[in-house]
Amino acid sequence: MDKIKKVLIANRGEIALRIIRSCKDLHIPTVAVFSTADEKSSHVAFADESICIGPPSPKESYLKIPSIITAAEISGANAIHPGYGFLAENEEFARICKESNIIFIGPSADIIALMGNKTEARKTMKKVGVPVVPGSAGDLTSFEELSSIVKKIKYPVIIKATSGGGGKGMRIVKKEEYLKNSFEMAQAEAKNAFNDPSVYVEKYIENPHHIEVQMLGDHYGNVLHFGERDCSIQRKHQKIIEESPSPILDDEKRKALFDAAIKACRAVNYNSAGTIEFIVDNDLNFYFMEMNTRIQVEHTVSEMRSGIDLVLRQIRISDEERLNFRQKDLKIKGHAIEVRINAEDPDNNFAPSPGKITNLNIPGGFGIRVDSFIYPDYIISPYYDSMVAKLIVYAETRFMAINRLNRALDEFYVDGITTNIKFLKEIINTDAFRKGEYNTHFVEEFLSSKK
Ligand code: ADP
Ligand code: ADP
Ligand code: MG
Repeated sequence: MDKIKKVLIANRGEIALRIIRSCKDLHIPTVAVFSTADEKSSHVAFADESICIGPPSPKESYLKIPSIITAAEISGANAIHPGYGFLAENEEFARICKESNIIFIGPSADIIALMGNKTEARKTMKKVGVPVVPGSAGDLTSFEELSSIVKKIKYPVIIKATSGGGGKGMRIVKKEEYLKNSFEMAQAEAKNAFNDPSVYVEKYIENPHHIEVQMLGDHYGNVLHFGERDCSIQRKHQKIIEESPSPILDDEKRKALFDAAIKACRAVNYNSAGTIEFIVDNDLNFYFMEMNTRIQVEHTVSEMRSGIDLVLRQIRISDEERLNFRQKDLKIKGHAIEVRINAEDPDNNFAPSPGKITNLNIPGGFGIRVDSFIYPDYIISPYYDSMVAKLIVYAETRFMAINRLNRALDEFYVDGITTNIKFLKEIINTDAFRKGEYNTHFVEEFLSSKK
């Protein structure tokens, strides 16, 4: 490492620990930041140094830019890894890091800004010939404009927040009579959630798959893909299970998808870890949906198949190192599945279930990986995301991977709080999941079939 001397991790939970682990493998000292609610968290325990940055509320701690920059300056960290969520896609934060002579481990502020604006991203993709979902060219300027676009693309449509994320700020409209009201509601919600009322409209693709491609680009124009991930098992537009390869793609489509993802990254000279998300219809037509300019929760799936530590590579790229292997050197093989273990109660409308972990058994054995931050007696606080662990299995075939996942879920005990472990087991053992016959509505349909 030439430039990066010490890394501050501007995050918490499993991803903070995940980043600390890669820093250790690179022999780089780490600084954890934490809120008063996280004093006893693993990321604090395992970092070389730690600094309290404020009270539990994210606005006053993990999202508070001046406190984080000050923590970096006090500790002498000259690089910041933002993880996912929080400040990971905040262009202002990336800009302030740069102005403070701190290396932001991610793409430049300009790329974050461009891709974080979903209509600008769509325009950029269209320009280079990456297919986008049929819909508005830019932000909607009036209801009349929306009406005339919908006449062309036809119902159902989806109105989406231009600055949206985290599965929030989307409205599906199936009939003309709801269009006006949905438009107004979507704008109000977008303003409220993202401080930007801009919305756009897309054709709502029926029974689609969400398939994304993991990418790495460096500062020298090298762009590589690490295979796709099928993330169609979602609840309320949030991913629960991710697997690779996708059970629906054939080799020809898969290749076309990778080519489009590479083209998308090249269009913006992408130079970090990132993901191109596509929506894929029943006839396997695929359309660009958005780009996530950060490491994602489910990056582990691609690590298991490629044998490459993506976070470690992301750090080295920010150190301006060249990717020292080519696409043809990469062997992406086998089958990987990740499930997100959340502190929530599936029998009570998935209500968060914070509290003290009394007993814990983490599964192990061949082909099992658990990325987590919990331990016995740890108290899951109510202030943050409910994800407490990621369980990732790897096997030669999909059949073996599902069996292995069953075995690991059977061994997984998180006592004291309620989790979705049983629910995950139910899903992976349905006929449909076993056969790989599912789409983004799977969970919704599964839940209503249980009623
Ligand atoms: P991934 O694409 O990595 O699966 P998610 O979309 O699930 O990522 O987001 C990762 C984390 O970041 C989640 O905890 C999610 O709640 C949060 N997140 C992402 N974007 C936003 C946003 N714009 N506003 C609030 N939270 C967000
Ligand atoms: P976010 O930034 O919140 O992740 P995305 O644009 O990636 O938003 O969409 C999140 C999810 O919403 C997708 O994974 C998919 O399930 C659903 N979705 C988004 N756009 C469409 C569409 N045009 N048709 C059908 N489903 C969609
Ligand atoms: Mg998305």
